[in-house]
Amino acid sequence: MTFSALSHLECPRCGVTHDADQIIGLCPCGSPLLARYDVPVVQSALKKADLAARPADLWRYHELLPVRSPENVVTLGEGMTPLLPLPRYGAELGVDRLLMKDEGLIPTGTFKARGAAVGVSRAYEVGVRKIAMPTNGNAGSAWAAYAARAGMEALIAMPIAAPEICRREVIAVGARLQLIDGLIGDAAAYIREQSGYFDASTLKEPYRIEGKKTMGLEIAEQLGWQLPDVIVYPTGGGVGIIGIWKALNELRDLGWIDGPLPRLVAVQSTGCAPIVRAWEKGLPESEPWVDAKTVAFGITVPKALGDFLVLQAIAETGGCAIAVDDEDILAEQHRVAQLEGTFICPEGAANFAAIRTLRESNWIQANDQVVALNTGAGLKYPETVPL
Ligand SMILES: *Cc1c(COP(=O)(O)O)cnc(C)c1O
Ligand SMILES: [Zn+2]
Repeated sequence: MTFSALSHLECPRCGVTHDADQIIGLCPCGSPLLARYDVPVVQSALKKADLAARPADLWRYHELLPVRSPENVVTLGEGMTPLLPLPRYGAELGVDRLLMKDEGLIPTGTFKARGAAVGVSRAYEVGVRKIAMPTNGNAGSAWAAYAARAGMEALIAMPIAAPEICRREVIAVGARLQLIDGLIGDAAAYIREQSGYFDASTLKEPYRIEGKKTMGLEIAEQLGWQLPDVIVYPTGGGVGIIGIWKALNELRDLGWIDGPLPRLVAVQSTGCAPIVRAWEKGLPESEPWVDAKTVAFGITVPKALGDFLVLQAIAETGGCAIAVDDEDILAEQHRVAQLEGTFICPEGAANFAAIRTLRESNWIQANDQVVALNTGAGLKYPETVPL
């Protein structure tokens, strides 16, 4: 019986392949590596209909995940989050078929748990016992939690300005917390100086993206393998949107879906919009954003390692990149809460500010089916609600 059909790692920039069963970070050319699977092996091991009988978590897709042995799976029950229709709010926007995948209902309160579950499990499997990472907050709390669950040591470096709740979460699960007087880039520089740890920075290891891609697998399964017209994603490091794109391509290779892929939309804040700027200028990569600052701290990434893949994903699917103001983000966050009863995070709310604008310009049409990812729980951002 095949638990994982992982075959090798491939560099999307230089095309070189690497053995997947070793401790590895970036390709020597500097690009992130992508996990590749043996399609005929998946096809013979798994049929769509088999999924229904499996547990409602992301490990239901284990053939398409990199962990080779079930005993190495580190889980807190992550995945299979609800895909909620938003009828009242959709009517206000003029988008009748508006859906929100709610990642607020996941361990540690954000979709970062998906990347951490798969990343920590696979790191453990290839022999890593100590991990270190720089973070804006949410990734640090997720990786610290899963490291604790695996019995691994974790060192988390976080800017002083990161939300206090994330600091507390890291301390609660017994990880080492290093506060950094600076931004995420300074935290990354600190981590590079530490020895004895595996550097689990965004896209520097190949498997976080595999966890995040399960959002794409779930959307397809939850919609009965009929894809929506548009998927909207708040983009920081870009791992989620690259992952969703990768998942949909894998499903197409398996023959489980056909037709055009959904138009992928990368949403950023006007306070930090390097990918939007590159998209508007028609550049293949982004330039570092100076003085990055937004209420949606999870998407404060001045220069993403995988920027070229995000730009490729939106170009190939006929999508776009769009920036929205913090003021509009907070207004939509409250509007969604009032009309639908769901308290979403500012990053998730950025999607709705973008959808409103894209609907007004008719880039999104009235009958388009639109899926927005709410990447985290509003509960982690109490300061966004005035008392
Ligand atoms: C990290 C984060 C994002 C951005 O995710 P990427 O996959 O790195 O683009 C969006 N929302 C929240 C809440 C986050 O924590
Ligand atoms: Zn390479």
